[in-house]
Amino acid sequence: MLNKKSVDDINVKGKRVLVRCDFNVPLQDGKITDENRLVAALPTIKKLINDGGKVILCSHLGKPKGEPKPELSLAPVAVRLSELLGQEVKFAADNEVVGPNAKAAVEAMQDGEVILLENTRYRKEETKNEDEFSKDLASLADVFVNDAFGTAHRAHCSNVGVTKYVDTAVVGYLMQKEIDFLGNAVNNPERPFVAILGGSKVSSKISVINNLLDKVDTLIIGGGMAYTFAKCQGHEIGTSLVENDYLDYAKEMIEKAKNKGVNLLLPIDTVVAKEFSNDAAFRVVEGDMEADEMGLDIGPKTRELFANALADAKTVVWNGPMGVFEMSNFANGTIAVAKALADIDATTIIGGGDSAAAVNILGFGDKMTHISTGGGASLEFLEGKELPGVVAANDK
Ligand code: AMP
Repeated sequence: MLNKKSVDDINVKGKRVLVRCDFNVPLQDGKITDENRLVAALPTIKKLINDGGKVILCSHLGKPKGEPKPELSLAPVAVRLSELLGQEVKFAADNEVVGPNAKAAVEAMQDGEVILLENTRYRKEETKNEDEFSKDLASLADVFVNDAFGTAHRAHCSNVGVTKYVDTAVVGYLMQKEIDFLGNAVNNPERPFVAILGGSKVSSKISVINNLLDKVDTLIIGGGMAYTFAKCQGHEIGTSLVENDYLDYAKEMIEKAKNKGVNLLLPIDTVVAKEFSNDAAFRVVEGDMEADEMGLDIGPKTRELFANALADAKTVVWNGPMGVFEMSNFANGTIAVAKALADIDATTIIGGGDSAAAVNILGFGDKMTHISTGGGASLEFLEGKELPGVVAANDK
């Protein structure tokens, strides 16, 4: 259990409550295309409204790099959030985020009202965690609540710096839920405990592999990461993704798995093509590829191997797709793993980012126990790192 004060430990009646949410949602032509993060933020917001707080929401959106960018304004989020809450969320348009407009809007608030500030990354101090913006944010609030799990692995003004200048800093329900699910899975899993890693880069998941080998019964590796492992074992991988700087590391991990008695499963067949395109002709290869071929998905035997390894699992954590799931010809590996997870009686936890998107796009979202709202944050948590956004909240 998370040993941090939460919204259940404070009384916000009549107080100004600044809530850091993760409203970093994908937008297309001003429309929100995936609103999971908004829905996930509702329980904390509703609790604070019901308790009679003046609820001031803030978040970043995309990477405006320290200056106002109208296409990255949070205005559309305020509109959709109002609908989801069934109550107006006033948008405090203000290019300084905490400038005259935002201050006046907060000044005029009644108990139980909600406003949303402009994109915190309009301010250049935000991602550098510099005091001036932290103080500005704190000046609006009596109490600070951090519910932005997706940003918890970063130390920025709006989740870490601000806590220096308020008396009370607690976590929200989403933050608690994310840490409880991931923490229980990693530190107290019902066994067999299986982790599945995929995606494109070994280097970004390097410490995760190492840390998970100390915890899991089975580690499954698929996706673009797998070819570095295939190459280090002497296989021809053609033009597949590879990280040559990590060949020794991959060998070490294979050795570590042996020594620990962890069942490390790597692909035994691969769907390959000569071009990175859904229109390219493809075939299934066992063993070595031709020099001009690249691996784009796990093959049918591997799908079966992985599904069998998952059949009796009781806890599963999954981060990273098994192939280029964005292209239908190379989505079958990711679909097979999603299906296997949907069918088993286990706690299934999907790390955020691409794996969450894949599970949702493929229609298995409601079959999973927990889909994390944080890609980078859940990965760093699985690496065993402390998350600065969590550390900064008051201890119980
Ligand atoms: P990551 O951000 O590391 O989780 O990687 C996710 C991305 O990895 C997705 O966009 C996938 O298309 C990509 N990916 C998965 N398998 C492969 C592969 N075999 N070759 C190239 N890209 C891949």
